[in-house]
Amino acid sequence: MVIQLSEDEANFRLRKWYNHVPCKDWCGASGETCGFLGREFPLRGKLSRPDRPPSDMALLFKKKVLLKNHTTFRIGGPAKCFYEAKTAKHLIAALRKARELKLPFFVLGEGSNLLVSDKGFNGLVVKIQDSRFKIQDSYLWAASGVSLSTLVRETGKRGLSGLEWAGGLPGTFGGAVFGNAGAFGGETKDNIIWVEALDPHTNFGMGASKNLKVKRFTKAQCKFGYRTSIFKERGWLVLSALLSLKRGDKKAIQGVALAHIKQRKERGPLEYPNAGSIFKNCKVTGVPKKVAGMFKGVIKEDPFPVIPTAAIIAKTPGLMGIKIGGAQVSKKHPNFIINTGGAKAIDVLSLINLVKRKVKKSFGVDIAEEIRYIE
Ligand SMILES: Cc1cc2nc3c(=O)[nH]c(=O)nc-3n(C[C@H](O)[C@H](O)[C@H](O)COP(=O)(O)OP(=O)(O)OC[C@H]3O[C@@H](n4cnc5c(N)ncnc54)[C@H](O)[C@@H]3O)c2cc1C
Repeated sequence: MVIQLSEDEANFRLRKWYNHVPCKDWCGASGETCGFLGREFPLRGKLSRPDRPPSDMALLFKKKVLLKNHTTFRIGGPAKCFYEAKTAKHLIAALRKARELKLPFFVLGEGSNLLVSDKGFNGLVVKIQDSRFKIQDSYLWAASGVSLSTLVRETGKRGLSGLEWAGGLPGTFGGAVFGNAGAFGGETKDNIIWVEALDPHTNFGMGASKNLKVKRFTKAQCKFGYRTSIFKERGWLVLSALLSLKRGDKKAIQGVALAHIKQRKERGPLEYPNAGSIFKNCKVTGVPKKVAGMFKGVIKEDPFPVIPTAAIIAKTPGLMGIKIGGAQVSKKHPNFIINTGGAKAIDVLSLINLVKRKVKKSFGVDIAEEIRYIE
């Protein structure tokens, strides 16, 4: 039976549910807290029940997997061990095994915000592939491995507004929550009700299974900021999140998302492997007044007044189209570095340092990387 609830009633039930209803083990997160399924909040359809992780995870670890095949930059050496986790339980089991084997670990989404060292990663890389999601009334629950583009498409189809800004944004939902990804004035944080995350610094239940620490964070507790969150600050792993969306006109919602996809194709050098914007945009309040004046015409609210770093790089003598090895500052979008073929991480790093030095010399502005470097 499907019960249609008013938004207030749904909110009330939801609060009641996640405060009081014991876990039915649907989210596969901890066995103590639950994902989006509960008697108090009936859903249409059912989420598929995740398989149990095998007893010896190490048998499933692939060896020497080239990370260049798992990053949008198409750069990166081998991971000593590599595992694709379909559920939070598998993720936890894999991390437990890594701890047992004394392997450092790193969690990967779609690899769209990463530069991986040419030497690769001497530990376990876990690619999160839990792509379950559920839409009920105007709520969306999604596991961290679902791609943001799927969520934009599926919520658009149902006339739910809130994710249009993410049209064309690559990456997983978990990666977006982790870095509070944003574009066109919107940010991942905007619609969040809560996020479930795992503290990988706990002992993952080794010896004492209750020690597993999965916590549900309210939006305020997530401490979202410009391309950051508490998860990024503390290195917690995002497992799933609940979003509240708004009913709207289906055609209009889909139209906005499509317009963003089109704009990205027109403005970004998407014909080459890349990792999106290399540098964060510059807060107007963080640059010398003289510089803010020089770039007055391009200041935009995204999500607060910023000078696009692309504009600063474009105005810095000698940077447009500059190349080191196979890496090049894009002429189409100067905040992108493109892999023109066979670029090495060292080429990109050298280019990043060069751009930072020249921008500082020309404008006295320190620009900071948005992408993460893994070695
Ligand atoms: C063409 C292009 C355009 C882009 N445009 C934008 C843009 O407009 N705005 C913007 O904000 N970004 C943009 N990006 C960057 C990127 O798409 C986002 O940062 C995205 O959210 C990263 O998600 P991912 O799954 O690819 O994360 P990955 O690149 O795989 O990982 C990035 C970081 O997140 C961590 N991580 C990933 N999943 C989890 C998880 N579940 N729990 C904890 N940590 C996790 C990783 O450990 C890593 O530190 C763009 C990238 C490209 C290639």
